[in-house]
Amino acid sequence: MNIAILSRGPNLYSTKRLVEAAEQRGHKARVINPLRCYMNISAHRPEVYYKQEALTGFDAVIPRIGASITFYGLAVLRQFEMMSVYSLNESVSIGRSRDKLRSLQLLSRKGIGMPITAFAHNPDDTKNVIELVKGAPLVLKLLEGTQGVGVVMAETNQAAESVIDAFRGLHANIMVQEFIQEAGGSDIRCFVVGEKVVASMKRTAKEGEFRSNLHRGGSSAMVKLTPEERSTAIRSAKILGLNCAGVDILRSNHGPVVMEVNSSPGLQGIEECTQKDVAGRIIEFIEKNARPGKTRTKGKG
Ligand code: ADP
Repeated sequence: MNIAILSRGPNLYSTKRLVEAAEQRGHKARVINPLRCYMNISAHRPEVYYKQEALTGFDAVIPRIGASITFYGLAVLRQFEMMSVYSLNESVSIGRSRDKLRSLQLLSRKGIGMPITAFAHNPDDTKNVIELVKGAPLVLKLLEGTQGVGVVMAETNQAAESVIDAFRGLHANIMVQEFIQEAGGSDIRCFVVGEKVVASMKRTAKEGEFRSNLHRGGSSAMVKLTPEERSTAIRSAKILGLNCAGVDILRSNHGPVVMEVNSSPGLQGIEECTQKDVAGRIIEFIEKNARPGKTRTKGKG
């Protein structure tokens, strides 16, 4: 197979591992920077150019589109979909996962457990929103944040009110969430490929921190999932339409609650922690599933 990896970082661990895993299995893999792709969207036959070369002949594309380039990256991916190239994750699903509110709404309507989460536009509603999530301590999240940036804990209602008002003053969209204290500063990353959790790890926040992101100094360890956690992760990825996803779960008193579903989950933390060949599982999934024209949306968005 001829595989395109849409990534801005040929030297990133995840990108390198995907290339390596593809080549090990006898495929060709090429890293393409989506920001260097350009296209004539009015052309009768859809096409994508990369530094003057028309990109053709790909059997599959692996999108590794960072949050900061979602808009342009997804436009490029849609173009590949219109050219009938199979994508590991389709543009529509990635778009859903990038909007934290939208994805939690989609999960909620299918009965996936999540922390009580509220959202409001008008400052006059601040107090009511805090009440909705049962008051402090609570977690405030910037909708645009990643890697724990913009995730703040408010220990009192008063602190919550002033932080919400401050964010509002900056015209930032935030959501207000019940703090799952019993998770003890740990969360569980479930790496889903197809209908399986191929690897999972428990991440624990460093002393004095409640955010367990590895980028924030958290540490990781192997973890055995319960059947409920496993099925919650698989269902969550499926609901958003993602074949490959990192589903982040907190262990609450009332079972697993999903915090977030990531459509470009990193490979380094999970492979190093579990010693599993996650990149290999992704390539195997593509081998089994990639067919020309096998895209659900064909770039419809
Ligand atoms: P990001 O997408 O920026 O990583 P998350 O929503 O995953 O933001 O939050 C970052 C970390 O903060 C999580 O990994 C988790 O450890 C902690 N956290 C987030 N929400 C809650 C919550 N409602 N209750 C307890 N801890 C939380």
